[in-house]
Amino acid sequence: MTHGARKTERSQELFAEAHYIDYVCAYGPLILGHAYPAVADVLAAAASRGTAYGATSELEIELASVIEEAFPWIELLRFVNSGTEATMSALRLARAYTGRSKIVKFEGGYHGHADGLLVQAGSGQATLSLPDSPGVPPSFAAETLIVPYNDAPAVDSLFDRCGEQIAAVIVEPIAGNMGVVPASPSFLERLRQLTSQYGALLIFDEVITGFRLCYGGAQTILRIQPDLTCLGKIIGGGLPVGAYGGRREIMEMVAPLGPVYQAGTLAGNPLAMAAGIVTLKALEDRSVYEQLEVKSIYLEDGLRRAAGEAGVPIRLNRAGSMLTMFFTNENVTDFATAKRSDTQRYAAYFHGMHDRGIFLAPSQFEAMFVSAAHSDEDISATIRAAGQALSSIR
Ligand SMILES: *Cc1c(COP(=O)(O)O)cnc(C)c1O
Repeated sequence: MTHGARKTERSQELFAEAHYIDYVCAYGPLILGHAYPAVADVLAAAASRGTAYGATSELEIELASVIEEAFPWIELLRFVNSGTEATMSALRLARAYTGRSKIVKFEGGYHGHADGLLVQAGSGQATLSLPDSPGVPPSFAAETLIVPYNDAPAVDSLFDRCGEQIAAVIVEPIAGNMGVVPASPSFLERLRQLTSQYGALLIFDEVITGFRLCYGGAQTILRIQPDLTCLGKIIGGGLPVGAYGGRREIMEMVAPLGPVYQAGTLAGNPLAMAAGIVTLKALEDRSVYEQLEVKSIYLEDGLRRAAGEAGVPIRLNRAGSMLTMFFTNENVTDFATAKRSDTQRYAAYFHGMHDRGIFLAPSQFEAMFVSAAHSDEDISATIRAAGQALSSIR
């Protein structure tokens, strides 16, 4: 038998028999688990009524009202097809509203793949932003200023130098894309003060955190009002979606009410809207969040214990049902400390878990997402697998 043939046979075997306990959950959207019955049913019904209209549908209005009720500071909302479109459009709007062109993002913050956002500038030198990806012109990247996450003094001095040129600060209130790293409330409050003082907009990228931490966003818990909010993931119930919204006066600048162009052939798509409505209806019963919290604490405690028993130094960051186990022995509060994790150990752990039927993201710098579909038995099995996987990488 050739190696190729053996490989194919092996993959068929895996395909037929493999079962995984999934903590990727499509990188966040699947808070109710895969193929949630009410979502599957509503999709079939919605599809039989048409998959796109080129006009606003009642479903779009309904989902928008559900979201606006949960996010009191969103006065007007626009649906798009992805989180990337949401942040890209919100930043265009912020530039138009302020008449300025610079934007501020944080090291290790991910806001989708629009050109000007693919910049991390590990050097932390705001004036020397270099693109992370080939294909991004340095002149685009130069409009993006980078500051370390959770570093209020660095933001202070940036605004001191060029605050009048800054259109907006975009931030994940709980970072999920350098691994889970919560912002300190005082850091976010400082961002609010500085942006107000300098006439810049504060944009909360809640594409992950929206409806993940609570019924609403991190802003609901923190009581900090951003000017604009970006959403995605959970609000589409597993279908392609994004949304941005905020203060009426700003949002009214978007076409057709105002001059800032933004449109999307399939935006507000009836399938995505229907899946989103059913998902948010299920979450409206707040006990879902209480159960997620209980399960996530159980998982967190079990993973800490497993690492302790295996003698593997870790730091575990958790915010609600999103958590990351960093292979490091120092606290992780920003991208620099996240990057000090031993990614080879993470790789070994990832494979050890994969071999034991636990599906984690193949990167240290992602989150584990707990869903309503994870049972206590699933979590116990996960903790057992982690104990074995961790003791074999030591
Ligand atoms: C996933 C994500 C995005 C991008 O959303 P896509 O739907 O993948 O384009 C933007 N911001 C944050 C915080 C995200 O987690």
